[in-house]
Amino acid sequence: MNTPTAILHVAVPCPLPGTFDYLPPSAGALPQPGMRVLVPFGRRKQVAVVHSVSAHTTMDPARLKAAEQVLDDTPLLSDDILRLAEWAAHYYHHPLGEVLAAALPVALRQGKPAEMPPPDWWQPTEAAQKEGAVAALKRAPAQRAALQRLLEQPQGQEAIGLAELGGNWRHALAALADKGLARRCAPVLPEPEPPPPLNDAQREAAAAMTGALGGYQTLLLDGVTGSGKTEVYLAVIRDVLSRGLQALVLVPEIGLTPQLIRRFRRRLPGRLAVMHSALADGERLQAWMAARSGEADVIIGTRSALFTPLPRPGLIVVDEEHDLALKQQDGFRYHARDLAAVRARQLDVPLVLGSATPSLESLHNCQQGRYRHLRLGRRAGEARPPAIHLLDIRGQPLEGGVSRELFLRMRQHLDADGQVLLFLNRRGYAPVLLCHDCGWVAHCPRCDARVTWHHRAARLRCHHCGHERRVPERCEDCGNADLRPVGQGTEQLEQILQARFPDIGLARIDRDSTRRKGAMDELLDRARSGEARILLGTQMLAKGHHLPSVTLVGILDCDQGLFGADFRAPERMAQLITQVAGRAGRAERAGEVLIQTHHPEHPLLQQLLRDGYPAFASASLAERAAAALPPYSHLALLRAEAVNADAPREFLQQARQHGLAAGAGEVMLMGPVPAPMERRAGRYRAQLLLQSPSRSALHALLNRMLPELARLPTARKVRWSLDVDPQEML
Ligand code: ADP
Ligand code: ZN
Ligand code: ZN
Repeated sequence: MNTPTAILHVAVPCPLPGTFDYLPPSAGALPQPGMRVLVPFGRRKQVAVVHSVSAHTTMDPARLKAAEQVLDDTPLLSDDILRLAEWAAHYYHHPLGEVLAAALPVALRQGKPAEMPPPDWWQPTEAAQKEGAVAALKRAPAQRAALQRLLEQPQGQEAIGLAELGGNWRHALAALADKGLARRCAPVLPEPEPPPPLNDAQREAAAAMTGALGGYQTLLLDGVTGSGKTEVYLAVIRDVLSRGLQALVLVPEIGLTPQLIRRFRRRLPGRLAVMHSALADGERLQAWMAARSGEADVIIGTRSALFTPLPRPGLIVVDEEHDLALKQQDGFRYHARDLAAVRARQLDVPLVLGSATPSLESLHNCQQGRYRHLRLGRRAGEARPPAIHLLDIRGQPLEGGVSRELFLRMRQHLDADGQVLLFLNRRGYAPVLLCHDCGWVAHCPRCDARVTWHHRAARLRCHHCGHERRVPERCEDCGNADLRPVGQGTEQLEQILQARFPDIGLARIDRDSTRRKGAMDELLDRARSGEARILLGTQMLAKGHHLPSVTLVGILDCDQGLFGADFRAPERMAQLITQVAGRAGRAERAGEVLIQTHHPEHPLLQQLLRDGYPAFASASLAERAAAALPPYSHLALLRAEAVNADAPREFLQQARQHGLAAGAGEVMLMGPVPAPMERRAGRYRAQLLLQSPSRSALHALLNRMLPELARLPTARKVRWSLDVDPQEML
């Protein structure tokens, strides 16, 4: 007799929506929701997650395949993570299997066992604490760095903490053990360093957050750079830990610096699990497992750490909430800040968003009374806000993009023992290579873009697709040899500064100079120690780093940001200027910020300088309201690309017809139009924008439209994707 069999509804990572039905494996216990199973899928086997188990299937049960293997003894993903993933799959119209795959560390996605290595704690030996022990390791920099780190906590620390040093830190640790300088020890929780007394504004903000513990609420901590936001987080997290609860802290990649992690480690009486992209898969798994088991009290990580299971949730913090890096820009395009709000509500814990330049979305939510607005108006400690001035460079001679006036001010600050930071958001030597004879300009063969000249590497590189080639000796058009760079990048600026200030140490920070693991920290250390007194770089340098001796900040070119095609360009420009300016005068010395521009009367610049970011933000919100742009309306962007130039537009045209036929109602369908840079990496790109005053109307239309799109005859000729709440219109 046939008893009704259990049917597994399984989320398989693949581009198809929904779950797939399988029979349980023939032997063994029935898998539960949240466990991983290995299932046959097409011609391959896939690691997938059991979403639910029921007695029903819409398929013919006789034709169902059985899962081959159950990979976990207990559910790996808790019910709340499954619900969060489901919510996200629905909201972003993305396949549940891919959402759940994104929620898992790579090792688990690949089917590796969910094991946690036993705790591994180390301390320096007595010999290591003798004078000269560190100096004796002069020839072994990795061992020296590891020993220095161990000496910071003589009672002992977790080995995994050394992973931030990069390189082969395990090897370094083993070498120290061989030399009798380090040894394993029992787990100890070091005594945290005492906090500074909070100022009134910090105390008020911390009290509001502490008062919110135990329920859901979103609080926006809107505090100028250096106002002590991090101290407020630390104070509240201490409270969370004292209640026996966990705190999850999300930071954009660039903000998750070793300095920040060390500050958290030194200051919090609990175990820290760190998750960032520089970790090896095994190390990441270890952090994830420590969070899930409840052994880690504080989890600090980038975007995807949002999906970490927390058995004792108490608080979620998203720092630098305005940062674009919190939004995933391909595949499952979620916004970690927005999903954090969903998760906080599910877990019934407060969410703290922090920024010196909050996004217009979050400020709007405050105005609507959905978020609580907490302000830190002044810098903590003694630091004063910098004086900001515009430098009109119209008609001025420039060298490497620097005006005489700026050189003069640099010299004055350097003579007064100050440090100078120059911001130029363009890496390479020159963005354009031009033939002086015929006007030919070097282009990327695969993109609608010019290639950047990288002088030291003697290469032309496309910053959009990775194409590169040797710098030609002659014009590729007329054969003449008079090729000239136009415009400047950081590499050229560095060369010019070296010539101008030969005795002064320089540190250039951009994607090229920091490619090697650990290079960024070495450069920042040179800056902090005062060895480098001129710092120059791209936006990598603009964010989060505490550089107390910088007294002059120069922004070489803010004009590109004033005329961006994207409606968010002014917001981003204002945030960038404010953040870069925030690097000046963070300690007791007053700072000065000089912004070079050809458009000194530009209303955005004027307002930002006169009234500051909050006033700029209110005015921008009023403009957005008048133009019915987000946050006063909701967007979704349907993108398509293909090698064939016409296919994307044809597909999107058909998509548009379907949308209209499905009854667009309040939703406006705009386009299709070519993407701002139509061809990238050899593919033509187009987009269709959906805009609606009502979020639910937009999603209802998408729900009707999307299933049809996969069936369009043109769908097979393009790659297409949907971006809900797009942050960039590229
Ligand atoms: P933010 O996160 O807003 O940029 P931080 O918390 O990093 O600010 O604080 C900026 C600097 O001011 C740090 O050096 C910090 O140690 C110091 N600081 C913050 N709060 C206080 C305080 N209450 N008393 C003294 N120094 C403080
Ligand atoms: Zn030529
Ligand atoms: Zn290219």
